[in-house]
This record gives sequence, C-alpha cells and structure tokens, in this order.
Amino acid sequence: MISQRTPGIVAERLNAEELAANFADLHAPLEPHEAAVAADRCYFCHDAPCVTACPTEIDIPLFIRQISTGTPEAAAKTIFDQNILGGMCARVCPTEDLCEQACVREMAEGKPVEIGRLQRYATDTLMQRDIHPYTRAAATGKRIAVVGAGPAGLSCAHRLALLGNDVVIYDGHAKPGGLNEYGIAAYKSTDDFAAREVAWLLDIGGITVETGKVLGGDLTLDSLSAQYDAVFLAVGLGGVNALNLEGDDKSGVTDAVSFIETLRQSRDLTKLPVGRNVVVIGGGMTAVDAAVQSKLLGAENVTIAYRRDRAAMSASRYEQDLAASHGVKLMFNVQPVAIHGNGAAAEIELEYTASVDGRLAGTGEKTRVLADQVFRAIGQTLTMDESLETESGKIAVSGAGRTSLDQVWAGGDCAHGGDDLTVTAVAEGRDAAMDIHATLNGSV
Ligand SMILES: Cc1cc2nc3c(=O)[nH]c(=O)nc-3n(C[C@H](O)[C@H](O)[C@H](O)COP(=O)(O)OP(=O)(O)OC[C@H]3O[C@@H](n4cnc5c(N)ncnc54)[C@H](O)[C@@H]3O)c2cc1C
Ligand code: SF4
Repeated sequence: MISQRTPGIVAERLNAEELAANFADLHAPLEPHEAAVAADRCYFCHDAPCVTACPTEIDIPLFIRQISTGTPEAAAKTIFDQNILGGMCARVCPTEDLCEQACVREMAEGKPVEIGRLQRYATDTLMQRDIHPYTRAAATGKRIAVVGAGPAGLSCAHRLALLGNDVVIYDGHAKPGGLNEYGIAAYKSTDDFAAREVAWLLDIGGITVETGKVLGGDLTLDSLSAQYDAVFLAVGLGGVNALNLEGDDKSGVTDAVSFIETLRQSRDLTKLPVGRNVVVIGGGMTAVDAAVQSKLLGAENVTIAYRRDRAAMSASRYEQDLAASHGVKLMFNVQPVAIHGNGAAAEIELEYTASVDGRLAGTGEKTRVLADQVFRAIGQTLTMDESLETESGKIAVSGAGRTSLDQVWAGGDCAHGGDDLTVTAVAEGRDAAMDIHATLNGSV
C-alpha cells in the first residue's frame, strides 16, 4: 500500500478525502454577520493609507462602508470600478504586504481590518447573483488586439470594451486566465473560480477570445499591427531559469511552474505523483506554492532551499509561516551544487553561503538532503522575441505601458517596472487601456 513513506515519485500518497480537505479554500469566506463585524472595525480614514498601498487604488473605506450599510453589491461595484479582477485579487493578493500592512489598525494593534476577506465577500455576493454591472459605451469603431489572456490582458480588454472598442484576445494556452488558471495555488482559487471569473468578465461583450494562438508562431507583431488599431502585449514570463548544475537533467528534477500547472489542471489529485522527499530551490511565492502543495499532496519531507537569508526571501513572512505551518522546512543560506542519483534524483548537495563584501559566495561547507523530487523555482523570463526595446530582460515601457513601437503597448509581468503580482498586472492593463483609448479616440 502506498503511503507518505513510499520511496520515489508516486501518486495516491493520500486518499481522496484527505486531498479534498487539504486543497479546500485557504480562508473560509465570511458569512454576512462576520462581514458586518469585520467592516465595523474600519475607521473610514480620510486619505486612507490602505488605498495608496493598493496598486489598483480601490476606494477601500467606501466599499467597507457600503458593506456596513448592508449593500455589498454597491461595494462590489466600487471594487470593480478600479479592479475588474477584484474577486481573484481578494483571494491571491499578498494583502499582508499591501493594503492590510498599511491599515492604521495594523500599526496600532497589529491586527488590520480584514480588507481582503471583505473584498471577497462583496465581489462574491455580486458575482453569485450573475450580475455584470457594466454596459458598453457607444461603439468607437476601433479594434484592438490583446496578446495574453492573463490578468493584464483581461483587465485591459474589459476596460477597452467598456469604452466602446472591439477587442480580440489571443492566447497560446487552451484556456484563458493566464496564471490565474495555471499558476495560482489550488487552495487560493477553488471551485474553478478563475474560469468563472473570465466568463463573468466577458459578459461585458465586444471581446472575442482566440485560444491556441501564439505570438511568434501563428501571429506576428507586424501582422497584428496591420490588422488592428493597437496591440496590447500581456504575455507574462513564459520561460523558466535553469539551475545549471551537475545532475540537473536527472529524472525528478522539474520546474515548479510546470508542476503547479499540472496540479491546477488535474481533475483527480489522487492521480498526481509527488516525491517522498521534495526539495524546492528558490525563495519566492512560486517556491512556497510548490512546497506547500507537495506537502498537501502527501510528500513526507519538503524543504525549501534558499541561497540568501530569511529577510531577503521575496515570499512574504506570511507565506513563509504558511509553509512552516504545513511542515515545510526552510533552509537559508544554501545553494545547490549537484543533484546525485542513479538516473533519477536521490539527493541534493547544498553548499552554505555567506555575504562577502555584499556579494553572495559559497563557504565551501556542504551538506546533503534526500531528494527524489527537485523543483526549480528561481525565477521566470520573457520568451517573446519581437523587435521591441527591452530593459532588464523585460519589455521597456514608459507612461501607461507605451513601448518603443507607436502602436504597441505592454503591461503585466512581461513589462518592466512594478511587482510581478496579479493586482499589479490588473492595474497596468487598465491604465494601458485608458491610454490606448485616449490615443485612438483623439483625446491625446
Ligand atoms: C506559481 C505562481 C504563483 C503565483 N502566485 C501569486 C499569488 O498568490 N498572488 C499574486 O498576486 N501573484 C502571484 N503570482 C504572480 C501572478 O500570477 C502574475 O504576476 C500575474 O499572473 C501576471 O499577469 P500577466 O497577465 O502579466 O501574465 P500571465 O498571468 O502570465 O498571463 C500571460 C498569458 O499570456 C499567454 N502567452 C504567453 N506567451 C504568449 C505568446 N507568445 N502568444 C500568445 N499568448 C502567450 C500565456 O498563455 C498566458 O495566458 C504567481 C506566479 C506564479 C508563477
Ligand atoms: S487604513 Fe484600515 S481603518 Fe483606515 S480606511 Fe483603510 S481599512 Fe479602514
């Protein structure tokens, strides 16, 4: 019988009931009474710091007041006016680093108003009623191509359609949603929420989605520029950095993003194999997501190995604690030097590191950790190969996503500047749409 102690990479370490419990909603949704109590903690600050801390600048005190007065649908509209993916952002935003960190009650009491959960309460209430709260402006006759159906592309397309433009979204994947559909940890977006949100968003009308269409394959920037009045690039970061070390090619060594994608698309988690001893290399959100989900699938030992110290880890303290609370071991100041095993990974060799004159260096002291599965989570890269200026490996932009080509805008993870977060992608897509609309319709 297979158990958590079975060697190698195998499926069915846990049974269906255990897996269902493990992958349930990370935070239970608020009941109406709980939402009222949570909303009552807000001081409705003037010049509220939580608003400034939100990349989409949602009027947080207003929407919380609307919840307090028993009008969650109005609260949802306040949220969607700034962030049409407010439902997903309520689930995935690192609120502990954004709005909730800035909340005056966090500063005073170490316990912020639960802005994220209140946002989810409001947006879920409206979406469950199947209401799309916008109607399109009169047709402008302008047509815009959006490449990439992730948060940046969807946000841009919705705003352009709202303003009366026609939009075609092209995406290389089989389903729209980008990393909302393929990347976000399963316990943050349950019940097919990503797909439901896309369907809801498209109710605005005027947007056609063409999946399985790849820029650089069937599509070129020149052909899109010739066919459309403008192009918005929202292709994210499709490439994954390599480890470049001895044994990197052994079976069992894979990209964390591919593992998470397979997990997100899996209809039966009992069939998904996972190692007994899993090691994740990296220090960001992707590393934490791969580690926690491996543990939830039934891996016996899961370790995150990060080359710098805890403070330098890009995963927030909340995420680090989430990993630790699921039994993931966090190792700091170690870098991988080799993966050992006879064809398949069995052990990973790590070297301790130290900062020498501000630079990271190996100390020569080494250790080995059992590892039948190793995930690379050391960052993603731009894969698009088009004639656009780049900066630090991303598409160079100025203003609201203007690229080096007149007719072409870009936003989200593929564009330079801003954090690689869902909410930032939504803000950049929205702002680019406003700029594209103003440019095409003569007000710029
Ligand atoms: C594993 C993982 C977990 C994450 N967890 C969180 C989280 O919890 N909270 C958070 O805020 N952020 C999280 N992020 C970051 C967040 O998902 C991204 O910042 C966000 O999705 C970026 O949106 P985007 O629209 O720019 O790109 P993406 O979501 O990457 O969408 C890009 C789209 O473009 C398509 N595409 C790519 N190349 C082409 C091409 N050549 N032709 C056509 N289509 C193409 C892709 O198929 C994809 O649909 C996570 C990221 C990863 C990798
Ligand atoms: S900072 Fe906190 S208390 Fe003030 S408006 Fe924002 S959520 Fe309310």
